[in-house]
Amino acid sequence: MAHFLLAAGFTRVVGHDLSPDLQELARAHRLAHAGMGAEAAREQLEGLLAGLAELHLGERYLQGIAESSLVVPTQAWFLHPRNRELHQLREQGFPFYSLIQAYLDLCRGPVLGVTGSHGKSTTSALVARGLRAIAPLVWLAGNDRHNQQALEAVSRDAAGEGWLVLEISNRQLLQMDRAPRVGCITNITPNHLEEHGGMDAYVACKRRIYELPGCEVGVRNADDPVSWAAGPLPRGVRQVLFAKEEAALGESDGCFEEDGWAVVRRGKERRAVLELDSLRLPGQHNRANVRAALAMLAASDEVLGPQLPEAARALAELRPLPHRIQLVWQQGGVDYFDDLSSTTPQSTVAAVRTLAREVVLICGGDDKSIPFDELAGLVGHEVRQVLLLPGTGSARLLEAVRRSGGGALVREMGSLEEAVQAARSLARPGDAVLLSPACPGFFSAHYGAGGYRRALRGKPTSPRPRTEPG
Ligand code: ADP
Repeated sequence: MAHFLLAAGFTRVVGHDLSPDLQELARAHRLAHAGMGAEAAREQLEGLLAGLAELHLGERYLQGIAESSLVVPTQAWFLHPRNRELHQLREQGFPFYSLIQAYLDLCRGPVLGVTGSHGKSTTSALVARGLRAIAPLVWLAGNDRHNQQALEAVSRDAAGEGWLVLEISNRQLLQMDRAPRVGCITNITPNHLEEHGGMDAYVACKRRIYELPGCEVGVRNADDPVSWAAGPLPRGVRQVLFAKEEAALGESDGCFEEDGWAVVRRGKERRAVLELDSLRLPGQHNRANVRAALAMLAASDEVLGPQLPEAARALAELRPLPHRIQLVWQQGGVDYFDDLSSTTPQSTVAAVRTLAREVVLICGGDDKSIPFDELAGLVGHEVRQVLLLPGTGSARLLEAVRRSGGGALVREMGSLEEAVQAARSLARPGDAVLLSPACPGFFSAHYGAGGYRRALRGKPTSPRPRTEPG
């Protein structure tokens, strides 16, 4: 955002960052822009440091903030106890702005937005992949730090020829006052409840994607009880649905599965557009993500024409994104998967089901107060052993596993390296070792500098994976 403001000609952009020094700032910048190459990130940061009028770091990083005319905070600013002063400013009616709002204000072409508890990144990447097969200019931006932000390019598109696919988090939904033209909620399960003050408020937050001005088409998951129970779309917003069975679509247009194909329906017209066996993405949950993406493409009249099947076929080529059930290592007949992006028990359950074999699970982290019972119920069945790293969520997971009778199958670990060593000795040929935290905070607490791959490489004789993932 600062980079964009400087490029747009603002002359007094002041940076405020909690990092104690420039070295830490560079590290944080690199992490926040994981989609950018190391060299490009370094150059961008240098440009920023040269362009900023002032930079406040460390203990007193908010110094001078009340003198600015506009505050542009990050999406999770309100969670940090040190930002009390920002809360006060907002209560006083001080103007705030955001990266996501800037995209919505500046993009002249069609914007498709994806939110939801699970599958946002994958569904957005699918939509962008489909559009890129038929349109010359497509940006994928927003929430995920692996996406390349594209605010400058979007703002230069005066003719509005480009398509913008935005992945939008619940926190970003609170920073917007207008919606994308096509909005999709992939699904809603309990998540971030403390932040929102309960499930009703969390659902209401997600629904902003349909309810804010600018939404013309609302894409909904007819199989998801929570999204569905939230009631109809606002008047004037067209409904497009996705579901496994056609019957669930009712009278609405949308996408469903039939005889191994994804079928798109609009009025009386039905088109089988994608053979589901051709997908590189594994698992039933990804099939739901594919249905969501196809419904979004079909919701865009410009695409629905003769080019829709071409866009749909391109979805088959998308491989798992990094850290989503990603095969990273193979040794002694055991496959090692990285599913670091799972911060909820639901997505870990989805990963275990997708692997469809015995699993040694490495998990743990902070608490989000989401029930662990379903995941705990898999221990002693699909999950042969749990290697649990420390955390407040881990403690609750352990209780849940004990209640369901699998307590003896949990081993508490001190570090990721220790867990990987234990997994190596426990896994048998044909098994999968799955790193899938089921809790937030694993990355910062346990992943370390080199992460899972480095821990796996610990043995110098380890072969490289047969398949290059991602
Ligand atoms: P998000 O961007 O919403 O976090 P991702 O596509 O990054 O979603 O996936 C995050 C985690 O959730 C991964 O572990 C992935 O395997 C799992 N996941 C993806 N889509 C779904 C879905 N539709 N239902 C349940 N879990 C999912």
